[in-house]
Amino acid sequence: MGDERLTSGMAVFLDRDGVINRNVFNLATGAYESPHSVEDVVLLPGALDALARLQTAGWPLFLISNQPDHALGKASLETIKAIHAEIATRLAAANIALREAYYCYHHPNGRLAGYSGPCVCRKPSPYFLHQAQAAHGLDLAACWMVGDRATDIACGQAGGLRTIQVAPDHPAALVPAVPPPDHQARDLWEAVEIILG
Ligand SMILES: [Mg+2]
Ligand SMILES: [Zn+2]
Repeated sequence: MGDERLTSGMAVFLDRDGVINRNVFNLATGAYESPHSVEDVVLLPGALDALARLQTAGWPLFLISNQPDHALGKASLETIKAIHAEIATRLAAANIALREAYYCYHHPNGRLAGYSGPCVCRKPSPYFLHQAQAAHGLDLAACWMVGDRATDIACGQAGGLRTIQVAPDHPAALVPAVPPPDHQARDLWEAVEIILG
């Protein structure tokens, strides 16, 4: 599945939180954040169907996610990896396979040695796009980036991808990307409609 597009260098890169699964309100910080436990993982309505549609149409799927909660002292690396495993398991149960899931665990203002300070991979850096390009022979100009944050769009733009910004899954104002994305969408399902044309 997806091999035809992969041979032609095409792929879809997805942000995770707010695109595939819900962000979770953190009472302590008053902000919507990544899930902090496996129990907090809730897939967004239509996300599995949207991914299945893309995959059936032959698009290889890649994930790129910033997960700084370990660096920030909010979650253990084991928990962050368990949350990834939970999401991957739910995708697999719907026969959806990610070619690669790239995670940045760093944060510029983190507290933990080895995870804090500047890093090469945190979005908006296109580092993981280039990793995927090298490993899978991608033509980044033929690829798409779908994310809910301006940093996702900036990452895609830095790699020369076409970009779609999906609306936030919580009642916070959309922070528009500058320069703007190629498209805006209500959710992943609508983004997939745009990709499939
Ligand atoms: Mg996000
Ligand atoms: Zn990083």
